[in-house]
Amino acid sequence: MKLKDGFKFQNSFGTLPKDLYEKVDQTPIDSAKLIHTTKLRSELGLNLLSDDDLRNWLNGETRLEGDQRIATRYAGHQFGIWAGQLGDGRAMSLGEIINPENKRFEIQMKGAGLTPFSRMGDGKAVIRSSVREYLCSEAMFGLGIPTTRALALLTGQDHVARETVERSSLVARVFPTNIRFGHFEMCFHFEKKETLKALIEYTCDTFFDVATTEEMLIQIVSRTAKLMAHWQNVGFCHGVMNTDNMSILGLTIDYGPFGFLEDTVLNFVCNHSDHNGRYAYNQQPSVAMWNLERLLVCFLDVVEKEKLISILNTYMPTFEAEYGKLCREKLGLQIESPQDYPLFISLLKIMGTLNLDYTFFFRQLASYEKGKPESFKNFWDYYGNRGEIKTWLGRYDERLVLESISDHDRSLKMKATNPKYVLKNYIAQEVIQDVEAGNSQKLEQWLDVLYSPFDEHPQFEKYSQPTPSEFKNIEVSCSS
Ligand code: AMP
Ligand code: MG
Repeated sequence: MKLKDGFKFQNSFGTLPKDLYEKVDQTPIDSAKLIHTTKLRSELGLNLLSDDDLRNWLNGETRLEGDQRIATRYAGHQFGIWAGQLGDGRAMSLGEIINPENKRFEIQMKGAGLTPFSRMGDGKAVIRSSVREYLCSEAMFGLGIPTTRALALLTGQDHVARETVERSSLVARVFPTNIRFGHFEMCFHFEKKETLKALIEYTCDTFFDVATTEEMLIQIVSRTAKLMAHWQNVGFCHGVMNTDNMSILGLTIDYGPFGFLEDTVLNFVCNHSDHNGRYAYNQQPSVAMWNLERLLVCFLDVVEKEKLISILNTYMPTFEAEYGKLCREKLGLQIESPQDYPLFISLLKIMGTLNLDYTFFFRQLASYEKGKPESFKNFWDYYGNRGEIKTWLGRYDERLVLESISDHDRSLKMKATNPKYVLKNYIAQEVIQDVEAGNSQKLEQWLDVLYSPFDEHPQFEKYSQPTPSEFKNIEVSCSS
């Protein structure tokens, strides 16, 4: 089988020094069923393959001319501690497709069997974890947040032991590259100097439009800072921000025990293995900076230390500027005023004290009319008469006086920036149960919603309400 005309494989990562990867064979899952594919299928020219041909290729039963299965070697810091060598333990690349516009799409299968980096793991993925990754990567895309993408979801019949026995599955994900901070850490800490040099040159030339390593690092810091601003803004908590889960391109990567804020709990921890709350919601921006420091250390032989420090020091100002901008947009403010950030933070504190649903509140605020508390009807209906919010709305009224935009236009702008729908864990859970029962209807319906989370979807209205208390704060484990 071949790729469509105009598309070709160019497996550039596989031309790097051998320390960075191993050639591998995929272990097909049993009785694989192709549950769903996204629009990426046609963008990659894979729509010429029948469902069966695509399933067989993604499941490692057949080859496409020019493909190459590799698993990469990386290392990393996990929960703040040097973890040594890690690597793609249950994921493997099938190759990098170049489309007619010369854009690179690496396809990686997650759950594709043992690799030399599987350590104690079984190389498998279960339906629960694959559906979560599938939905959330597309949800982040729908929200306009940099992320790896999902191409296809397969389920199988193998029994996979986790806390209970679950069924196998595979998710095909797509990104320009799988390179993580951990690839640089592997080279640096195991003193593979030539490999590090080659990796730096390759990354710089292939994925960054820059002339020097320093410029590339400045971009990595900036992209990471902006990604954190976006996560904080939509209330996304990643859950496992180890350095091996940090994309060099500033993409959200490795969806595991993630969670979106439901009640506004600023120190919300979504990963129930994170006993110290290292990766709590409000810690994410500083953790990303700590992770960047681990990355920049790897460049000590290439870039002067003073320079690296000054590059790291661009992180906080970039994060603060971006987050400040997003917070202003969240409140529908067009002009900049020094009161804005304090106004926003005081609101978050009140929302935290009152346990208000983060997404619901901001969406309601989009319908608020200046000086008219009655326009906040949906909120009062749900939460009752909350004095603290009334007082805050008074401050908001005063701030809105500085703006010339009409309530109507502000509302439109706020609705385009405050999503009505995010992938709360109980929603993911409903889809998982449906897929486990062999259906794909809920998955399709939810993808539709998540691709346009700022629009109204009347048949899903109840999911835009605060999370029902019996479904709140589902804890999710790392086991995937
Ligand atoms: P994660 O916490 O998901 O980022 O995984 C950390 C490391 O463990 C990565 O190197 C993974 O490839 C590896 N890993 C996680 N789950 C499995 C599994 N079921 N089989 C093999 N390796 C795994
Ligand atoms: Mg990982």
